Amino acid sequence: MEVPMADIRAQHKAIKSDIDAALKEVMENCRFILGENVKLLESQIAKLSGAKYGVGVASGTDALLLALRALGIGPGDEVITTAFTFVATTEVIALLGATPVFADIDPETFTLDPASIESKITPKTKAIVPVHLYGQTADVKAIGDIAKRHGLKIVWDGAQAIAAETFGEPIGAYGDISTLSFFPTKNLGGAGDGGMILTNDEEILNKLHYLRFHGSAGSYSYKYVGYCSRLDEIQAAIIRAKLPYLAAWTDARRSNAAIYNSMLEGLPITLPVEKPFNKHVYHQFTIRCPERDKLKEFLATRGVSTGIYYPAPLHLEEAYRNLGYKPGDLPETERTCNEVLSLPIFQGLTREQVEHVAESIKAFFG
Ligand SMILES: *Cc1c(COP(=O)(O)O)cnc(C)c1O
Repeated sequence: MEVPMADIRAQHKAIKSDIDAALKEVMENCRFILGENVKLLESQIAKLSGAKYGVGVASGTDALLLALRALGIGPGDEVITTAFTFVATTEVIALLGATPVFADIDPETFTLDPASIESKITPKTKAIVPVHLYGQTADVKAIGDIAKRHGLKIVWDGAQAIAAETFGEPIGAYGDISTLSFFPTKNLGGAGDGGMILTNDEEILNKLHYLRFHGSAGSYSYKYVGYCSRLDEIQAAIIRAKLPYLAAWTDARRSNAAIYNSMLEGLPITLPVEKPFNKHVYHQFTIRCPERDKLKEFLATRGVSTGIYYPAPLHLEEAYRNLGYKPGDLPETERTCNEVLSLPIFQGLTREQVEHVAESIKAFFG
């Protein structure tokens, strides 16, 4: 039995008539940039995320970049973030001329450890970028308290956590800015790149509208040095067509996780922990296993694909060597990179496939 990590083709087949209708409408209108689809998607996603406003941009990476720009982050500023994330989170800080400062993670949740954040704060610290990794939210209350006490801004990277909830509310309800990604393999993906910024602050909203459009309100007059970063109508129409399915897809991910949790109990692996304060949307179902590489190889012989997110901590990457980190600086992050293994969890898996993955892991441990 083959079990892939994702099957975008199968997802497309299941909803092809919705997508075809959405595409046909855009092509007949021939309005490709900032039309009705983007506007409607912005309000729909903002609503489901508990935020006042949404701003569609070209990618989840740009969503982070423009969010930090809107907060005025630039040269001389330090921004605390995690080295256990997709590189985009770090990259945008460096691209703005600011300094990424890495705090360590909580090994149980893989998200930023509030105590480690606190130890990294200096007079230059301006903001924190926590990541809701794998679909589980960071500890928004503890991190929010730290930010408040030290007068710091927060951009919540929710690229992997659309539809997640924390302390009873959707993720966009917390703080000034959160970001989302519509990369094709995310829980709600387009047919290309796309992203969105969620905000509850009207001033930030206005600035983001300028920033994504070359710093202009559209009149050939330029208030800021801006970007060319719009979500296009074709992507927005496709994502809008998929949106009605998101709740069921999230439920399917969560029930796949429940099957794994019950079948894998008692093995010498660490199962993911869903903190009671949040609703995990399982962008990834990630176990820890000291024999990770051997397990991965074994599963491949049984047709089971797995992923390693992320194999190397960002603070030790060549691109960030100038920041001066060395092995041992972030012990939990480094240990985690050597132990994590993500199992297939996407909504299109059959029960038989999920059981086959779990049985194969049991077989590995004999
Ligand atoms: C995917 C991802 C991004 C970047 O999103 P893109 O749409 O690929 O640019 C940023 N942060 C995290 C945590 C991600 O998983």
